[in-house]
Amino acid sequence: MTYCGRFAPSPTGLLHFGSLVAAVGSWLCARHAGGRWLVRVEDIDPPREVAGSARAILAALPAFGLVADAPALFQSQRRDAYDAAFERLRAADLVFPCWCSRAQLAAEGGMHRDGRCIAAPEPDRPPAWRLRVPDVTIDFDDAQQGPQRQNLRDEAGDFVIRRVEGYYAYQLACVVDDAFQGITEVVRGNDLLDSTARQVWLQRCLGLPTPAYRHLPLALDAQGRKLSKSGQAHPVDPAHPMPALRRALAFLDVQTSTHADSPAALLDDALARFDPARLPRLAARTS
Ligand code: GLU
Repeated sequence: MTYCGRFAPSPTGLLHFGSLVAAVGSWLCARHAGGRWLVRVEDIDPPREVAGSARAILAALPAFGLVADAPALFQSQRRDAYDAAFERLRAADLVFPCWCSRAQLAAEGGMHRDGRCIAAPEPDRPPAWRLRVPDVTIDFDDAQQGPQRQNLRDEAGDFVIRRVEGYYAYQLACVVDDAFQGITEVVRGNDLLDSTARQVWLQRCLGLPTPAYRHLPLALDAQGRKLSKSGQAHPVDPAHPMPALRRALAFLDVQTSTHADSPAALLDDALARFDPARLPRLAARTS
């Protein structure tokens, strides 16, 4: 099977250093494998979206030399596919509606574990929909972080796949689209390592293939906090791409020559020396 990787930014702000690292890391892995590299805009959370940021991110990527093999997929246009997945889960009795308030959930230890909601149904108010999670332990081997194991009932409980507002949750949209785009390896930041077991379980529930996973170390600020787009931390400047691109490659421990004079030349040079086995593993590094 041809390798297919992806970069899946949420349009919650400008491209920042942490997402540039994920973009460059996933691009290098895909090109090293002789495979395809795709971009997916995860615009399924309108309340968190920052107007214009999807366009800004998509314009920034080629400025950094990162050119996808197909037009970007927008999750806001994939509602039918998520509806179909949801109906499939509902038909298999794998989901239940939940009207619980935060206080009721807190009383349950912050999550449901019994495949049912403890609140009285409120016909006038739309519910959230949760997946019924059995006592199942998910094992997977992360190419960067090593063997992982999570008991889903203990650590995630019956998690939300469709929110009260009617939006689908990231976990559902992500697995539906990773399968739709034919992704064979997911390369992303280590903050999503914890989501992976839920995604693997959803893939099994929906009969979708499980890709390989590689979670890259996170870029942290001087205080040790994750750089986030929503915090507008460390945006990178597509008008002057070389410094940030060099820093992203250095962060990934990829050697480059000082002679490269364009992002494309720098990436070519990095690719020639790139070995995924030598990517750093540590989850906490300053940028
Ligand atoms: N959209 C997510 C983010 O920007 C990444 C999702 C993924 O790579 O699975 O943090």
